[in-house]
Amino acid sequence: MNNHGAPVLSVVIPMYNEADVLPLLVNRLRPVLDGIGVSYEVVAVDDGSTDATAAQLFGLRRAWPQLRIIRLRRNSGHQAALTAGLHRAFGQYVVSLDADLQDPPEKIPEMLTLARTQNLDIVYGVRSDRSSDTVGKRSTANLYYRIMGRLSGVTVRQNAGDFRLLSRATVDALKQLPERQPVYRLLVPWLGFPSGEVTYVRERRAAGRTKYPLRKMIALAADSVTNFSAAPLRLATWLGLLAFFFCLCMIIYVIVSYALDATVRGWASLLATVLFLGGAQLLCLGLVGEYLGRLYSAVQGRPAYFIAYDSAEETSRQPAPAVP
Ligand code: UDP
Ligand code: MG
Repeated sequence: MNNHGAPVLSVVIPMYNEADVLPLLVNRLRPVLDGIGVSYEVVAVDDGSTDATAAQLFGLRRAWPQLRIIRLRRNSGHQAALTAGLHRAFGQYVVSLDADLQDPPEKIPEMLTLARTQNLDIVYGVRSDRSSDTVGKRSTANLYYRIMGRLSGVTVRQNAGDFRLLSRATVDALKQLPERQPVYRLLVPWLGFPSGEVTYVRERRAAGRTKYPLRKMIALAADSVTNFSAAPLRLATWLGLLAFFFCLCMIIYVIVSYALDATVRGWASLLATVLFLGGAQLLCLGLVGEYLGRLYSAVQGRPAYFIAYDSAEETSRQPAPAVP
């Protein structure tokens, strides 16, 4: 601990039903952290797991005092769990890590050294090789980075996921932001702090199953787009303009047909027009709705997660929850 009582390093790990992988994670993570020679805390954010994750964490903590357990009241999603961990971490540097060992803990010392020697606020873990991911995952990820780079105007580091090191200044800057659904892989570069990177090979999930089904990936992509860009709304404007010019042409056609006394035919063109306009209007309405929904939930101001328990506040009113 430094003179303020805060550890040098916090390692934030969101976990949801990761009981299978937890022992493997600890076996690899602990020697690395013990070997760095700085004070540290491991912030395990249990994102409302329903398996043995919570019980295992409490068991592990008995032999590993640096392990801190934060439990969310219910499953709130990866980014919300990450937010809970980042907001509550004490360290001067905070590393975020997936629980499934896809991000190698062995890279943490390298990240810390790089940040300290070169005075960097952010060190991204960049995947040099994603061959262990499925083809579907890789191509959707590529598409995501391409589109987001384009739309947000932020230089997004390709293949930098949520394995990264942040300085206290960066974490504090993130905490200042009022965002309800932060998408860190865009927000962090947007802050503009000096950054570096270490490369690593993305390994296979060590055990258990992915907690990111397609549905959650689509939700993340939708959050990313709406958080950083009004381009879809502009699409509605362009579609509207296009439809307007199309209608102008149609009106001229109608007048000419009327003048030529040939106004009976035209079932196909009429139906095509009605269908096209109906479709375009619904699409635009949906796009506006996406933003409106987010605006609504931002106005409601409900927190993205609730803390059920934080072992750093053990003296507080709440006892350790009964574990399943
Ligand atoms: N995770 C979480 N809450 C969720 C879903 C996932 O805390 O609702 C955690 C999960 O335990 C893991 C990390 O987020 O530590 C990344 O999830 P996963 O490895 O399943 O995603 P993938 O690598 O397949 O994209
Ligand atoms: Mg994973």
